[in-house]
Amino acid sequence: MAANLLKVDYTPEQRQVADMVSASQDVVRDVLRDEVTPIVREALTDDVLVGIRDLVRLTPKMIAAIEQDLTNTDDTVRQKAYTLLARYTLGNPSIAPAPTTPATSPMSVFFEMPRPGDSSQTSDAVLEANATEVKTCAECGVEKDAALFVGTSDRCRGCHDRLRSTVRQRYGDAA
Ligand SMILES: [Zn+2]
Repeated sequence: MAANLLKVDYTPEQRQVADMVSASQDVVRDVLRDEVTPIVREALTDDVLVGIRDLVRLTPKMIAAIEQDLTNTDDTVRQKAYTLLARYTLGNPSIAPAPTTPATSPMSVFFEMPRPGDSSQTSDAVLEANATEVKTCAECGVEKDAALFVGTSDRCRGCHDRLRSTVRQRYGDAA
């Protein structure tokens, strides 16, 4: 019943007129939009500039008023003044942006300082503290701390010792 009440039965002539009105409305709307938009934008820009100029002009007065309120004997007035000031200065993210969280992973620093009564782990700790370079052992192919290599050798201390004992076994202590 309700649907029938809302339904409009156009005659073919009425339909034609309705379509023409609709089409011309679209044209008028498009033309108006194209013509008016730049004018509105320009006017808006001018108004905004005037507004900003007024704001800038009034800023010293506003600050003076807040300054005066800050020394007011009434606690409520004073509190309102510093709350306002804090909110729009220190508390304003566009003026004082929140510190950005560091993107880099936290840096680990090893200090070459043995802990009291911790002599057993000192040597490992010292090796770690001196770690500045990593070398790949030519013998075992394992990437190790450069401090674990003998001098400028391409072999790690483990491989060096193993080779040395092999050589000694084969050729005696003279090698
Ligand atoms: Zn090795």
